[in-house]
Amino acid sequence: MDRMRPIVPPALCRAAIDLDAVEHNARVLTRSAAGARVMAVVKADGYGHGAVPVSLAALRGGATALGVTTVEEALALRTAGIDVEILAWMFSTADDVRAALGADIDLAVPSARHLDPVLEAARRTGRRARITPKIDTGLARSGITLEDWPGVLDRLVSASEEGVVEVTGLMAHFAHADDPGHPTIDEQVQRLHECVAEARGRGLACPVNHHANSAATLTRPHDGFEMVRPGIALYGLNPIEGHDADLIPAMTFSAEILMVKRIAAGQGVSYGHTWHAPRDTTVALVAAGYADGVWRLLSGRLDVAIAGRRYPNVGRVCMDQFVVDLGPDPDETIRAGDTAVLFGTGADGGPTAAEWARTLGTIHYEVVTAVRGRTSRQHVLSGRQEDSR
Ligand SMILES: *Cc1c(COP(=O)(O)O)cnc(C)c1O
Repeated sequence: MDRMRPIVPPALCRAAIDLDAVEHNARVLTRSAAGARVMAVVKADGYGHGAVPVSLAALRGGATALGVTTVEEALALRTAGIDVEILAWMFSTADDVRAALGADIDLAVPSARHLDPVLEAARRTGRRARITPKIDTGLARSGITLEDWPGVLDRLVSASEEGVVEVTGLMAHFAHADDPGHPTIDEQVQRLHECVAEARGRGLACPVNHHANSAATLTRPHDGFEMVRPGIALYGLNPIEGHDADLIPAMTFSAEILMVKRIAAGQGVSYGHTWHAPRDTTVALVAAGYADGVWRLLSGRLDVAIAGRRYPNVGRVCMDQFVVDLGPDPDETIRAGDTAVLFGTGADGGPTAAEWARTLGTIHYEVVTAVRGRTSRQHVLSGRQEDSR
């Protein structure tokens, strides 16, 4: 071994991100969008998967635009050399958005007041702002209220005539898309269609309008709009309980087994001794804890997969580690240095992020975006793109 080379040990816990899975999922969504364009949502660092590599994989899979929350997220994609349309939908009315216009970032306008900084930046830079007014069609979160809409439309028409803005289209977001039969879905779609018709009636072309998140893209393709805006499904996670789509979870969260040891019947394990060995047994110590995204609330309710078999966590999950019970007659081949999978594709019956979400009473979105701490993220290509090869 070269003694001059610094030796960096591999991280004890790892999130492997399968970019071929992301590309595959993008292709599934592109097909599902049935002719509408796909804007891949890569906010929050690509839902914890790494925004830049995930964006490139989604674009390979058929997406033609990217959606993020903040201008900073959008600028980071530009800095990485990504030159497709990028839309950012959250900024402060106090922000100076000139940098966004300078980098050709499209901006959503989520309230009447948000038009002010955009018009100001456009007038000061002499650059026409590409904007997507966001309409509150019923989510009652961000979005221009239907009450404010006529006034905003007047201002959009005059700003457009002045040449300071180009309205690329309107957008909105669903409240109940993960419950496909819910009556609000049709109502929201109808409202956005009405707003688009009003804008077009006033001479704004609104060429590309969009309402659908992942759940809507998978169940009611585009509803007559020109683009869809899926996020979570790109990462292989289906937001609709019990709905089957050909998605591959892209993140595999794993950690190293630090040691394997025998303990005697009656021995309490981990802080507070919340579990006592019911018999002589063998346990393994797994090197990931709540500081890395393994919820302490999962204590005693979490399985890991080691060499394809599931083993239960016993005792409390700690900040950096937790214990699993290998049983009284363990697989003798399990050793320190082996890998325990915390969640992954679920192939071969292994644990999944969706399973964690069910146990925790939350959604898998929160599980994958919570992976953090000392976890080292590695992007891999698995070759799993059945439908493209
Ligand atoms: C996060 C987000 C999406 C993507 O939603 P998914 O449920 O992850 O598909 C789409 N549009 C907006 C405005 C969002 O904030």
